[in-house]
Amino acid sequence: MRTLQSQSTDIYTDYVRDWKEKGGKVLGYACVATPVELIEAAGVLPYRIKAFGHPDTELGDAYLARFNCRFCRSCLQLGLDGTYDFLDGLIETNGCDHLRGMFENWQYVKKYEFFHYLKVPHFLREDSLEYFTEEIGLLRQALEERFGAQVTDERIRKAIDAYDEVFARLKRLYALREKVPPAVSGAEVMRLVCTGSSMMAGDFSALLDEVLAEKENAAPLPYKARLMILGSATDEVDLIEDIESTGALIAADALCYGSRSFWRREGESGDPARLLAERYLANLFCPRMFTEYEKRRDYILETAKRAGVDGAIVTYNKFCDLHGVESVSLRMDLEKAGVPVLVLEKDYGSKADTGRIKTRVQAFLERLGK
Ligand code: SF4
Repeated sequence: MRTLQSQSTDIYTDYVRDWKEKGGKVLGYACVATPVELIEAAGVLPYRIKAFGHPDTELGDAYLARFNCRFCRSCLQLGLDGTYDFLDGLIETNGCDHLRGMFENWQYVKKYEFFHYLKVPHFLREDSLEYFTEEIGLLRQALEERFGAQVTDERIRKAIDAYDEVFARLKRLYALREKVPPAVSGAEVMRLVCTGSSMMAGDFSALLDEVLAEKENAAPLPYKARLMILGSATDEVDLIEDIESTGALIAADALCYGSRSFWRREGESGDPARLLAERYLANLFCPRMFTEYEKRRDYILETAKRAGVDGAIVTYNKFCDLHGVESVSLRMDLEKAGVPVLVLEKDYGSKADTGRIKTRVQAFLERLGK
C-alpha cells in the first residue's frame, strides 16, 4: 500500500515511465465519456489527465480566463510546462466548455501529431446513440491510422472484458469501504481509482487483487460519521484526506474520479462500437447530460442509502457551472430524502482553502450530532 500511495499522486508514474521505456504510446483524455477500451484495443495506454492538486496556473492563465475552473487551468499548466510531454496525443471531448478550452489551447501550443475530438451527445436517445456509435467508429479509424494497429471487434471485446474485471474488483473495494466498520478509507479509494486511470486494465486488476487481499483482513478504521461526497471533477486526494482528518469517513462517492467512472457499464448490442456507445452514453451520471437530472439524483440517493451515510458533501470547483447549478436542486432533494447536505464550493488545489474546509466539515459534523 505504501508503494501505491507514493506513486499515485505522481503525474509520470513508474508504471507509465516503464511503459514508455518499452516503446509504448500514451494518449491523454479527461472525461469519463471516453471509451478507453478502444484505446487499449489499439495497444495504446489510456491516460486520464490529472493535476493532483497542483495549484499553479500562471501558464494556463495566459490561455484561459480566470473564470475558467482551476482544475482545467492546472491541467493546462502541466501540459504547457512540459510535465505531460510523455503523452503521444490527446483526445478531446465536449464534457464542458472549460475542458474544451483546456484541450484546444494545449493542442494549439504543443501540436501533438494525434489530436482527436470525440463528440459526445448530450441526450440519450436512439438518434444520439446512432451518432455516438459513428463517432466511436471515427475514433477507432483514427487510432488505426495513427498507431498502425488493427482495432478488430475481437480486440475491443477483449478490452471490454478486461475492464469488466476491473469494475468488479473496484466494487469489492467499495464494499469494503461501505462496511460497518470500514476497512478502507475514502482517500485510499481515490488514490486507487486515480492510479488505475493510467494503467492497462489487466495490470490494474492485478494491483487491485493485491490491495483487496491486504484490505480484506485489515483492522477496521475508526470514524465519527459516514459521509458521501459528490460533485464536479476532482482528483484531490488531499481534499479527501483533509475531510477525513476531522473524523468523517468518506464511505461513498458519486465523483467522476470515483464511482461515476465505473459503477454502471451495461449495454446489449452485439456490435462493439454500438455496445461502447450504449455503455458510455446510457451510464454517464454527469450534469452535462441534458434532461437526466432525476436519473442522477436517484443514483446518488441509491448510493447514499446503500452506504448508510449520515450526510453528504456536494462539492464543486469555483466556476464549474454544470455542477454549481445542479448543487442547488441536489441539496433540496437530498435533504427532502433525509440526507443532510453540506454544499462546499472550493478552489481546485488551493492550500489556502484547507482551514476553511476543515472548519466547515467540523461544523457539519456538529450539525449531524457527531
Ligand atoms: S464532470 Fe462530467 S464532463 Fe466533467 S469529466 Fe466528469 S463526466 Fe466528464
